[in-house]
Amino acid sequence: MLFSKILLAYDGSKAANKALDRAVELAKVTQGSSLHVVHAFEFPRFFIGEALAPLPASVNKDYYDVAVKTTEEVKQRLADEGLNAKVELLQGSPAETILKYAKDNEIDIIVIGSRGLGGIREFVLGSVSHNVVQSARIPVLVVK
Ligand code: ATP
Ligand code: MG
Repeated sequence: MLFSKILLAYDGSKAANKALDRAVELAKVTQGSSLHVVHAFEFPRFFIGEALAPLPASVNKDYYDVAVKTTEEVKQRLADEGLNAKVELLQGSPAETILKYAKDNEIDIIVIGSRGLGGIREFVLGSVSHNVVQSARIPVLVVK
């Protein structure tokens, strides 16, 4: 089987939702395949000079709640598709987390959106998709 373990990198953005559609199609046409979804989240860090500014716990909780909501959304969309997937919420920088997950789980292909939730439209790829394409040792399907 060409791509039996498929990893979708999901951040809730428009491109990530298009990537989700493609990952679902790929999983459906590949008998016996498994779909894995990773959403990475990081707590925000603010520096004052070189010192890390302490943040109120409520701010961290807000970030975490958004991350949980993002994974709930993707779980719902996959359930609507009747697809059984493993959805993981992992803490860490997105590109690193996606690549480590792919390696640890012997993933065959990574499906990722070209852009994400970031605002700058100047480049074709965002920093996460750029780093994943650059460093992955397996095929990456970048969905525009
Ligand atoms: P930047 O983050 O550099 O400002 P951007 O947000 O436009 O740019 P990326 O973050 O590179 O673009 O997003 C491209 C794709 O990478 C998304 O469509 C999604 O598939 C994946 N991705 C981005 N962030 C995450 C994340 N936190 N967890 C999992 N996948 C992610
Ligand atoms: Mg981004």
